[in-house]
Amino acid sequence: MIDYKSLRKIDPLLFNILQAEVRRQSDGLELIASENYVSTAVLEALGTVFTNKYSEGYPGKRYYGGQENTDQIETIAIERAKTLFKCDHANVQPLSGAIANTAVYFSWLEPGDTVLGMRLDHGGHLTHGSPVTKLAKLFNFVRYGIDTETGDIDYNQLRDIALKNQPKLILVGYSAYTRDIDYGFVKSVADEVGAVAWADIAHIAGLVAAGEMRNPFDYGFQIVSTTTHKTLRGPRGGMILTKGVVSNPLKNVEKKVENLPTLIDRTVFPGLQGGPLMNIIFAKAVAFQEALQPEFKEYAKQVMRNAKVLAQELTNLGFKLVTGGTENHMMIIDAIASFGLSGGELEVLLDKIGLTASKSMVPDDTRSPFDPSGLRIGTPAITTRGMKEDSMLQIAKWIRHVVDIRHDERQIQLLRDEVREYVRNFPLPS
Ligand SMILES: *Cc1c(COP(=O)(O)O)cnc(C)c1O
Repeated sequence: MIDYKSLRKIDPLLFNILQAEVRRQSDGLELIASENYVSTAVLEALGTVFTNKYSEGYPGKRYYGGQENTDQIETIAIERAKTLFKCDHANVQPLSGAIANTAVYFSWLEPGDTVLGMRLDHGGHLTHGSPVTKLAKLFNFVRYGIDTETGDIDYNQLRDIALKNQPKLILVGYSAYTRDIDYGFVKSVADEVGAVAWADIAHIAGLVAAGEMRNPFDYGFQIVSTTTHKTLRGPRGGMILTKGVVSNPLKNVEKKVENLPTLIDRTVFPGLQGGPLMNIIFAKAVAFQEALQPEFKEYAKQVMRNAKVLAQELTNLGFKLVTGGTENHMMIIDAIASFGLSGGELEVLLDKIGLTASKSMVPDDTRSPFDPSGLRIGTPAITTRGMKEDSMLQIAKWIRHVVDIRHDERQIQLLRDEVREYVRNFPLPS
């Protein structure tokens, strides 16, 4: 393991900030649903000489020499990704989830083409067509939401909008939604309108890989995009997977009908990116290997058990949860409806006792995105630290207690100390 001796000598200022961050991460609890703690092996892989290497192109077809090792690691990453997600093509080069999604749009669409995606304020991601993105200026996004009565995606609305607008891509997936997706239904709608079915599983990739949540490929989906750093617990980055070979007659370059996997590879490089980050790809391969182990399945199960228990206990203590609970790794507290605090106020309050969470919109939120009504919390990171059901009961009590003592700074300090003391028993993995 790196001892950071050189860093300390060369740049004490940054070394001190690194130490402070290690302390912050160990002394508090990470409840942000999209974050996790990587293993020592993944951390080691990130700090290797593969960062020195330029590898534009793909294994066996590069623009620079000296690729005998990089070709191997990228091929291993690809093969492991295919095994994990039961598909036949993987591009592991996208630098992030947002870039992966951008690449999918550009592979399959021409400017002005229509995409059906989930509304941001109902749980979709920014890159699913939010008007604030540049993507929304290029492509014609139409959006479905959830049925606020049942909390489920409004599948009938999704179908109606698809029939009316004839999108070329139908995108499901979310950043703030607590249920699994009816991929079979969505695929049947995609078939009905001749669209390609695409799932963005950035949040739940680890749970899908472990077999704890549905795999879109089992329902005939052609594209799956994801991040590698959320429940999948790898380094920060993105990935695009495909199954089957769909041809796009519209992308008829020089009279040659192009198929989806090729279009995606060509869009990632040279279409959007230059050299891939080979140290990250190395670390992705390591994380995939970890995710293929039986222990990872156990981890994913525990993430979901913990989320259920935490959601139940928060409800018992008077919190109102969007959809009333959770079927995955996250839950959204309607903070306004619970105790009249905004999501932002609750976030700041939790921060004071060492619990890190993120404010979030609730469906049809009337408040601004900068201070919405909800707070999203998730269990992937705390489960990595070894926490089980009894810790969830404890965390729920802290969250409730800090609301009660919110005007008493001294009591808040005491609670902060209690949290710090408690988490000592659950060291970071690395
Ligand atoms: C996190 C997330 C992304 C974006 O990933 P970045 O690596 O932050 O760019 C894309 N889609 C969904 C559904 C996400 O939750």
